[in-house]
Amino acid sequence: MKVIAIDGPAGSGKSTIARRLADRLGLDYLDTGAMYRAVTFAALRRGIDPADGADVAAIVGDLELEVGPDGVVVDGVDATIEIRGPEVTRAVSLVAANPEVRTDMVRRQRAWTVERGGGVLEGRDIGTVVFPDALLKVYLTARPEVRAARRSKEVADLDYETVATDLARRDALDQGRDESPLVEADDAVVVDTSDLSVDEIVASLVERVGAP
Ligand code: C5P
Repeated sequence: MKVIAIDGPAGSGKSTIARRLADRLGLDYLDTGAMYRAVTFAALRRGIDPADGADVAAIVGDLELEVGPDGVVVDGVDATIEIRGPEVTRAVSLVAANPEVRTDMVRRQRAWTVERGGGVLEGRDIGTVVFPDALLKVYLTARPEVRAARRSKEVADLDYETVATDLARRDALDQGRDESPLVEADDAVVVDTSDLSVDEIVASLVERVGAP
């Protein structure tokens, strides 16, 4: 099974690189962050406090989640826009630190991949937990100000300072949690994307994967 793991913090270029790489390699692409966002969306919509671990854990198993390249549907509701909004973004790291949520998401991510015979998965724990035997593990980074600038371009209604503060807070939560924290896998290729073009990065990763 050809599995490519792309991990790294927000704004490091994961989605852009992972999509392009999947395209070049003829593999499907899965945004696992969108799955944690979708669970967060579902919890908020049901009036569940994201900090209430037991209540969030109680809904996760039965959620109908469809995460595709063009959007996310949660229990039949199109949540593509809302999962990127400030409420979900603020609460998602709390929900993602919940062990029951992680167990369920990892199970779904593995099933998605097995069904397709491989794929390019982006997230925080793909190379360390979900697929420790991935064919290629990539850990993307970028300078904090570069990451914040990229993110504030994507969210038109928030100023740079707010985005930078939110990002630093989310980094700290994702790196500091007990359950599958964001860390580089020992055997990951580490790429600082601050001063490199997407084309350059994708070309070098395709070369590493080698011919099919
Ligand atoms: O990638 P994105 O920024 O959309 O991810 C949203 C959040 O989901 C992250 O801040 C992190 O808390 C969580 N996440 C995770 N494990 C993954 C992917 C995302 O914990 N594999």
